[in-house]
Amino acid sequence: MDTRAHLKKLPSVERILEDPRVAGRITLLSRRGITRIVRETIEAFRERLIEGGMAASSDANVRASVTDEVVRKLEAIERGGQRRVINATGVILHTNIGRAPLGEGARRAIEQAAAGYVDLEIDLESGTRTERGVRVSRLLALLADAEDAHAVNNNAAAVLLAVETLAGAGAVAVSRGELVEIGGSFRLPEILAHAAGRVIEIGTTNRTHRKDYEKAVRNGATLLLKVHTSNYRVVGYTNEVPLRDLVEIGRAHGVPVMYDQGSGVLFPLAAKGIEGEESLGDIMATGVDLMSFSMDKVLGGPQGGAIVGRADLVARMRENHLARALRLDKLTLAALESVLLEYWNGRFDEVPALRMITADLDAARARAGEIAARIKERCAGELEVTIEEAESSIGGGSFPSNPLRSVLVQITLRGSRAEKIAARLRAGSPAVLVRVREQSVMIDPRTVLPGEEDALIERFEEAFGALCRRE
Ligand SMILES: *Cc1c(COP(=O)(O)O)cnc(C)c1O
Repeated sequence: MDTRAHLKKLPSVERILEDPRVAGRITLLSRRGITRIVRETIEAFRERLIEGGMAASSDANVRASVTDEVVRKLEAIERGGQRRVINATGVILHTNIGRAPLGEGARRAIEQAAAGYVDLEIDLESGTRTERGVRVSRLLALLADAEDAHAVNNNAAAVLLAVETLAGAGAVAVSRGELVEIGGSFRLPEILAHAAGRVIEIGTTNRTHRKDYEKAVRNGATLLLKVHTSNYRVVGYTNEVPLRDLVEIGRAHGVPVMYDQGSGVLFPLAAKGIEGEESLGDIMATGVDLMSFSMDKVLGGPQGGAIVGRADLVARMRENHLARALRLDKLTLAALESVLLEYWNGRFDEVPALRMITADLDAARARAGEIAARIKERCAGELEVTIEEAESSIGGGSFPSNPLRSVLVQITLRGSRAEKIAARLRAGSPAVLVRVREQSVMIDPRTVLPGEEDALIERFEEAFGALCRRE
């Protein structure tokens, strides 16, 4: 049979739309979309027929195949997309799985804000209009020890708004050693190119000196920007200008200095033995004019970004027309206020990301032991289950050279491939993400939330199949 004859077997769009499994799904607003899916599917079959992939089918078979395919696509849409993930990787702030999980208070706040009307921009006492997010700004300023604060959609937006406001008609100076890319989508050079009138790149990749910043000021810099090189570190023959010196230069010439801190370390982590990052309050004490950071990294809040610092500069940012495009919605503001209140009230363990970062090693060892025992009990003999000391990273471009000590459950499979087990774990519901090392899959209990253990063990039983017997 030639290709023309094959193509004749393709059903019409109408024919597929009449099939009860398709017709039964048509609603006022889905009709056009379903018709489009039918067309696309017929088109895909046409191409397959032309390539000779379905030679011996009858007309009825082709129609049934096209209809089945359409129904599969419709079912996938109906099922929806967001699947729950159990994070057993130990990477606390993983951008691909939504960074910081929120605690109960923040979740309740979102629900309340979502369900009805709230005092988003109204002072209920006087009945007059107010600025959006005033309570969040106030809390941020108080907690970071800054004069004022302004919250936006993410830290990229915070940097954009600050640079546009202070250097949109001027120039921003930044060290070549700090022109970073973070997480693939935040490329500082590109944001600066959009936001600033002019970008003055100074120094070299490994060395930047005071005199470079001073020269930039003479060349018209209206903002000196220092950037936390979150996810990498230059070692060897290097020199960077400390923030304190930059502040001195800025003061001497009346040019504002901004530090893109990135991770939002509100809690003084050194108090818990985690070295390497100063808290926001300590950084403000250097006299820096402005600081920007993410809300959903170490701070542990919902996606958001903040600019904190000098009141006159923050006020100018609020007046910038871009602020309207970058503003937060009521759900995020509700969650953010709730998280900041946990900090204010000293309930640090109510912020899951912070709790995971500061979790102590003995508690982690106990949890790993429990998980290991349960897997051993179900899968006796076939799997080698051991407890290993290892390191986990905070993630989200935070603390690149300061991994946390962790205790992992290591499961080694004889003959079976660890990658295959990891893929099966990802395919389950909830999906489970693990670390893979050679023949082993590893569970880092640090990022497994309380109450997720049962589901985790069940997914492992599923993934190992016959190797684990259900009781
Ligand atoms: C993460 C990070 C950003 C980007 O923040 P988002 O909230 O992801 O937009 C910018 N600068 C630094 C230093 C960062 O660490």
